[in-house]
Amino acid sequence: MSLRELDLNQDPACTTKSLSNYLPKDHPDENKWADCVHCGMCLESCPTYEITGQEQHSPRGRVHLIKSVAEGKLELNQFFSDPVFACLDCRACTTACPADVDVGGLIEEARGQVRQAIPLTGWQGAVSKLFLKGIFPKQTRLNKLGGLLKFYQKSGMQTAVRKTGLIKIMPEHLVEMESIMPEIKQPVRERYKNQTVIKPKGEIKQEVAFLTGCIMDVMFSDINEATINVLTRNGNEVTIPKNQGCCGALHVHAGDRDTGRMLAKQNIEAFKDADKVITNAAGCGCMLKEYPELFQDDPEWHEKAEEFSKKVEDISKHLHDTGYEKPKAELNKRITYHDACHLAHGQGIRQEPRDILLDIPGVEMVHMPNSDRCCGSAGIYNITNPEMAGAVLENKMANVPDDVEMISMGNPGCMLQMAIGVQKYGRNQKVVHTVQLLDWAYQKEDGKGDL
Ligand code: SF4
Ligand code: SF4
Repeated sequence: MSLRELDLNQDPACTTKSLSNYLPKDHPDENKWADCVHCGMCLESCPTYEITGQEQHSPRGRVHLIKSVAEGKLELNQFFSDPVFACLDCRACTTACPADVDVGGLIEEARGQVRQAIPLTGWQGAVSKLFLKGIFPKQTRLNKLGGLLKFYQKSGMQTAVRKTGLIKIMPEHLVEMESIMPEIKQPVRERYKNQTVIKPKGEIKQEVAFLTGCIMDVMFSDINEATINVLTRNGNEVTIPKNQGCCGALHVHAGDRDTGRMLAKQNIEAFKDADKVITNAAGCGCMLKEYPELFQDDPEWHEKAEEFSKKVEDISKHLHDTGYEKPKAELNKRITYHDACHLAHGQGIRQEPRDILLDIPGVEMVHMPNSDRCCGSAGIYNITNPEMAGAVLENKMANVPDDVEMISMGNPGCMLQMAIGVQKYGRNQKVVHTVQLLDWAYQKEDGKGDL
């Protein structure tokens, strides 16, 4: 059946699960689409609809397709898979939807179904297996990957590969990623491996546990370090649980819910003694808060996941809610702020990071129009869907004010994507994490250097 044959006006509450073309395991939740009244108020918020103008690439169209498979009107096939995997899972549609339809949750469930029915094969299957199952879930392998990248950067190999033009054998989007790769430093989990509890500088005001993340700790260990500095400066005793792992967001986004569940169980166990779990990556925080979604058919783990998810807090909200020392040193920078989708739409955190920036003396905030529009990073979307990601990034960069020196945000994937945008469109802004700016202001106050 083609999309044109699908009647968008039929009764949305009418579902016939018995005719469903979905597989029984991880069946998408019909309560999630039951409230969609096809009003279309989500259309303008959707970056992929903005670019394609096609209904199947809109939130309303995707919800309808997902419901149609459940009603046995559409097969679980490539026609269904394409719009489901072209979604950025940015959640802007849920913010726009008056009925709070959880389109992102439905998309993730639909992807789980597609990957059960149509597993990736060939080189795509091999690459996916290598990274999603072989590397990301294993901290030691991630550290080895970090070590290789560091060797590539420091040994002169990177310079040689760039100078000889050898780099051009890679696809264009991977060349772009290589060109903005941050300097690889020692992961904080390696640095603190013999000291999993880090005491604050003064009196202990609260105890928190810190999720260091997978890519975050390899590519952005300096941001993890800044997070620990800021927490300890503000009276937090920071525990880094040894057995923590990747949050599983990349796996769930890719439709691999089994590995997502395995990692969720690992983290729930690793953080079971913590009162609060702090993250500095919006995508990880959103995933941790949504762990209960992975255990709909497992009451025991669902309860554990519910308990765990209540303890999760983004660093900006934690600092804001617990009160932090306002820095005294001036940074004197013009800064704009990009709302990471999984912070703004996924967790409803918008004002807290802005307040932190405004509390730094000398910072001049410049408004970014459509600041909560996706940048096109979306986990590994910029690798799997480079053309659409590039078009989304182009729209994003058009909204970045010309006269700012820095773009601040709270998610590592966005930082990489925005850095590509800055380079590609000849801009000169520095891309920074909000917590880094606060840490720099503290360091300057302590006479430890300037930006
Ligand atoms: S705004 Fe919500 S209810 Fe309206 S079409 Fe979009 S998803 Fe459905
Ligand atoms: S999650 Fe984002 S890309 Fe996907 S349908 Fe919603 S607005 Fe569009």
